[in-house]
Amino acid sequence: MRKIIVAIDGYSACGKSTTAKEVARILGYRYIDSGAMYRAVTYYFQQHHIALSNPREVDRALKNIKVTFKINSKGISETYLQGLNVEDPIRSMAVSHEVSQVSTLKPVREAMVAQQRKLGKQKGIVMDGRDIGTVVFPEADVKVFFTADLLVRAFRRQRELLDKETLIEVDTIIDNLVERDKIDSSRTESPLKKADGASTIDTTHITIDEQVDEVVRLAVAAMIRA
Ligand code: C5P
Repeated sequence: MRKIIVAIDGYSACGKSTTAKEVARILGYRYIDSGAMYRAVTYYFQQHHIALSNPREVDRALKNIKVTFKINSKGISETYLQGLNVEDPIRSMAVSHEVSQVSTLKPVREAMVAQQRKLGKQKGIVMDGRDIGTVVFPEADVKVFFTADLLVRAFRRQRELLDKETLIEVDTIIDNLVERDKIDSSRTESPLKKADGASTIDTTHITIDEQVDEVVRLAVAAMIRA
C-alpha cells in the first residue's frame, strides 16, 4: 500500500503527541515530534548562552546542533542532542518558557524544516507540531488541527509533569500555554493556523482512544484514495 504523510498541528497540550505516537504505532509508521526539535535547540541555546539577538551566534550554533531520535527499549521515541538523551530536560518549564521565542527565529525554522522534510522523504510518517500541514508538508495526505479547552489542556499537562515527579501549579501552566499560543499564532514566520483542507478535532470531551480512532480513520480513507 502507498505510504502517506499524516500532519497533526494545533495548540499546546491538546493531545497531539499522545495521539500521533499511537497513530504511528497502529499504522507501523515513524513518529516525529517536531516540538521536541525546537525544544532541543532551545535547550542547546540555554546551555551555551547563545544570545537570540545575535544572528551570527545563532547561525554558528545551528550549524553545530544535531538533533536525532532513537526508539527506547519500550518502543518509545526519545530525543537526542549531540548524541545525548535530552528527553527530560527539554520538557522542563525553563525550556517551555523560552521555546516559543526561539521558534520565532527564521534561521531556526529554516534549519528545523529542512531536517523535518528529510525525515519525511520516504513518507510513512506521522509528524506533529504547529506548521506541519501549512509549511513543512503542505501536500500531506492527512492534515488534522487539534484544539481543546484551556483548563482541560492545563490539567492534562500538569498530570504529564506529575508523572515525571514534577509538581507545577496549574496557574503557572495556564500562563505558559496562553503565552506560547499567543507567540506561536502571531509570529511572522510560519504562524500556527489551521491548514487548508485540515480536519479539526476538539479533544475537550473525547478520550485518547477516540482521538486516535478519528485520525486512523482519516489515514485509512486517504490510503484507499491514494
Ligand atoms: O509541541 P510542543 O508544545 O512541545 O512545542 C514546543 C514549542 O515549539 C511550541 O510552543 C512552538 O513554539 C514550537 N514549535 C514550532 N513549530 C513546530 C513545533 C513546535 O514553532 N512545528
